[in-house]
Amino acid sequence: MYVHVPFCERVCPYCDFAVIAARPLTRELEDRFVAGLLVELERRAPAFDGRRLASLYFGGGTPSLLHPESVERVVEAVHRAFPASPEAAVEITLEVNPSTLERSRLPDFRSAGVARVSVGVQSFQDPVLKRLGRAHGAAEAHRTLAACRDAGFPSLSLDLIYAAPGQSAGDLERDLAEVTSFAPEHVSAYELSVEAGTPFALARERGQLELPAEDVALAMARNLEERLAAAGIQRYEISSYARPGCEAVHNTRYWRRRPVLGIGPSAVSTDPPVSDQTPFGSRRRNLPAVVPWLEGIESGSAAEASPPEVFDAATARGEAVFLALRELRGLDAGRFAGEFGAPPRQFFAAEIDELRADGLVDEDADGSLRLTRPGRQLADTVFVRFV
Ligand code: SF4
Repeated sequence: MYVHVPFCERVCPYCDFAVIAARPLTRELEDRFVAGLLVELERRAPAFDGRRLASLYFGGGTPSLLHPESVERVVEAVHRAFPASPEAAVEITLEVNPSTLERSRLPDFRSAGVARVSVGVQSFQDPVLKRLGRAHGAAEAHRTLAACRDAGFPSLSLDLIYAAPGQSAGDLERDLAEVTSFAPEHVSAYELSVEAGTPFALARERGQLELPAEDVALAMARNLEERLAAAGIQRYEISSYARPGCEAVHNTRYWRRRPVLGIGPSAVSTDPPVSDQTPFGSRRRNLPAVVPWLEGIESGSAAEASPPEVFDAATARGEAVFLALRELRGLDAGRFAGEFGAPPRQFFAAEIDELRADGLVDEDADGSLRLTRPGRQLADTVFVRFV
């Protein structure tokens, strides 16, 4: 399950998520928002009837702006709606921002059932953080990470951004030294992407955004992978690195096209297949803005942005390929054939041949596919071939 919490202290100039600046988040709005989540859960749970809970992810936005008792109410309601999987402990993750976190609340988040915190550090260099428009500094990031360990969270994930404005290779090098000194179980590292409609996009149009050159960004990505691997944190997906056994259960569900129920504004659900009607499942997107979503929930009218997108076989095949290629283990031809009746080459021979010729994809004798190292650096170019 995914729970979207759309509130942030302030909106970062590169952010294109569905968020609003809400500081302080009033108790009245928080209670109304949580009540909306519980209503939506009750309304949508029947579509996932009989399924077991594998993971619960509070993302945003800044979920750590919520009070621990609000998080606990949602956790309890989710547990009531879906029994836990007998195979593994349920992974419950909360995204945390150093600037907004009242560190005294961390033990209560832990008591509410949160076992994994994902901390939006982004960088340990104050000038880089400032240029990113982040509300926190390096000292706050240090204190937050230490407090997360003190509160006893067994799993700590840390978000990094590289190729940020004005960031040098040396800045990233220093960040990586800090990261490894904290020994997190998991790291998510994203190259800064400038999304249309954000203040960064406007600044770039005006020539006011100085980003590292492409070759510098590529060298940063290589350094990141090598430095983290040397610290025992292995890359397992385009942007994700983990110690063995600490890979994110929740994110993995998206790459493997497993059903995910998303609640809250802008949340996306991947509904499970329903016999003949939606044999490949369907996707639903909630209204992005808080108030229309809340009003839709409270009035019993639509909280979704559009009718459900029902996957046809061709769309499902394309998604199966490019989502599986995100993981380093790649696409298993046997599993693909089990779902679609034939291995990937049957449907994508021209694409596979061209990508192999360009050295971006490896193909095994049984038709299984994997990105090469250059393919990982040009992943979007590869993925678009299967859309
Ligand atoms: S803290 Fe994260 S979600 Fe909030 S505005 Fe900044 S980038 Fe967006």
